[in-house]
Amino acid sequence: MEYEELAKAYETLESTSKRLKKTRIISDLISKTRDEDLEMIVLLLRGKVYPDYDTTEIGVASRLVLKAISVATGYDAKQIERLWSKKGDLGLVAEDLTRKKAQSTLFSGSLTVKEVFTNLRKLSGLEGSGSVDQKVKVIASMLSSAKPLEARYIVRSVLQDLRVGVAEGTIRDAVAWSCLGVNPNYDEETETINPENREEYNESLAIVQKAIDKTNDSGLVARIARKGKSELEKLKLVLGKPVKVMLAQKSNTIEEAFKSVGKPAAVEFKYDGFRMLISKEDDKIKIFTRRLEEVTHQFPEVKEYVLKNVKAKDCVIDSEAVGYNSKTGKYTAFQNISQRIKRKYDIDRLAKELPVELNVFDILYVEGEDLLEKPFSERRKVIEKIVNEEEKKIVLAKQIVTSDEKEAQEFFDESVKLGNEGLMFKKLDAEYKPGSRVGYMVKFKSAMDELDLVVTGAEWGEGKRKGWLTSLVVACAGEEGFLELGRVGTGLKEKREEGLSFDEITEMLKPIITDEKGRDVKVKPKIVISVRFEEIQKSPAYSSGYALRFPRVVALRSDRSPEEITTLEEVEDAYYNQKKQ
Ligand code: AMP
Repeated sequence: MEYEELAKAYETLESTSKRLKKTRIISDLISKTRDEDLEMIVLLLRGKVYPDYDTTEIGVASRLVLKAISVATGYDAKQIERLWSKKGDLGLVAEDLTRKKAQSTLFSGSLTVKEVFTNLRKLSGLEGSGSVDQKVKVIASMLSSAKPLEARYIVRSVLQDLRVGVAEGTIRDAVAWSCLGVNPNYDEETETINPENREEYNESLAIVQKAIDKTNDSGLVARIARKGKSELEKLKLVLGKPVKVMLAQKSNTIEEAFKSVGKPAAVEFKYDGFRMLISKEDDKIKIFTRRLEEVTHQFPEVKEYVLKNVKAKDCVIDSEAVGYNSKTGKYTAFQNISQRIKRKYDIDRLAKELPVELNVFDILYVEGEDLLEKPFSERRKVIEKIVNEEEKKIVLAKQIVTSDEKEAQEFFDESVKLGNEGLMFKKLDAEYKPGSRVGYMVKFKSAMDELDLVVTGAEWGEGKRKGWLTSLVVACAGEEGFLELGRVGTGLKEKREEGLSFDEITEMLKPIITDEKGRDVKVKPKIVISVRFEEIQKSPAYSSGYALRFPRVVALRSDRSPEEITTLEEVEDAYYNQKKQ
């Protein structure tokens, strides 16, 4: 397929916010796509060149793209920068300049989807000395053959910021519409669908969703979907490839928690560590965070515990790694062990200084069998059978099964006394829904005094903080995007040894700057941090309508993605709950 056809589809997608219309556009495009282009198209529609299970990034900073635009169009960096700050989008800048250049030269380029896809992947593989120049060359060569509209989307794809608003659910529906032959009877006027057979329609969507859940690869799912429903149903979880973990809803009282998951419920300690999804394929162990990043190398001791204590040849387990004080044995909070996730050196020493205990709480696969659709109570029995518990190494999440609120309250007190966050309530007959916050598990914590927020901006420091980004703009998740809650600089440290430092956060934010005005910068919403505060206030100054009083950075949450941060609803809840106290 010509890349121009995809670029035109992007443009129509960008011009509407209607979800069903987007589904129609994508479904039509997929129908037109030949088998050999299908996986690429499905990934590119979400601005990706790797399936979701693969977290490889294209890894090109805005500055470098700016240089490539300059090489391809002949405009100098200063001019491009001026345009950039006017338009706030390098994609539009590239489009503009490509158009101007095309007017003065005889333009004859053409690009296929495959060429762009291959070049984008090439970028992610370039590392080390000379790679900067090579990257500029690859991008400039694409831009030189691009038509103006193509240039817009090439640049945005390189920057991994496509801005056409295609969610995974839209791809799922479009795959069902186009590959499984279900007719939604979409009416553009009213933005409604009216399938002839609703039941069959919903079933088709569910089959595609399950296939995506298991493989974490919507491109592959689209390809298999063309062969029919029964082929899709044969897809299985693949060892070594991470799936998205199931997420928890929140409740404010024990009564509410029981209401969500039913009685009796499994009630477990909620440990304050971080999620580990572990795949065991004989003696091959892979450990993933909830962002699906592989951290096997950083946790050699966990790998050993699993090899020694998990009595299944093949399995995928879900667990929480919790730090404890190596002298007293007491659990410590997440922020004390957070550095272990990113650290690439001194691994063994760090493992001794900041040891973790693995608390296994779920299982997704065992000996060739998917357990996703089995009830939680059965999955728990499987882990009870295969995990050989060893204190301070690998244990099962402490659990009781009860219908009694008083008993749950006592269990909560016990949990908190041991340094845990609270409790997790789980629906006994629920399946495992990857990536969903469906309410099959519900967390209950004592007080909301910490929020996970995404950084959307910052300010260049002055005086002794010159060269560092300070005063981070933080935001929570709204229905349609991120909503700001204020600025925070307190809590960031001068030195790396002391915690999340100014220079470390600057290093992370600098490559993802999307806009700069004076000392203020905007960044791509990618970095998640935990923030403590004294109080939440109503405030018209920020887009969330709320502001944090005395906010303080507690830790970098590199294990969390921006899709998993505190929601506006949770902020509102916390606001009203503090009023009651
Ligand atoms: P939150 O991060 O506050 O949304 O709470 C959900 C997280 O709690 C999960 O992603 C796990 O990392 C963690 N967690 C701790 N203990 C458990 C448990 N027993 N069962 C499930 N998740 C747990």
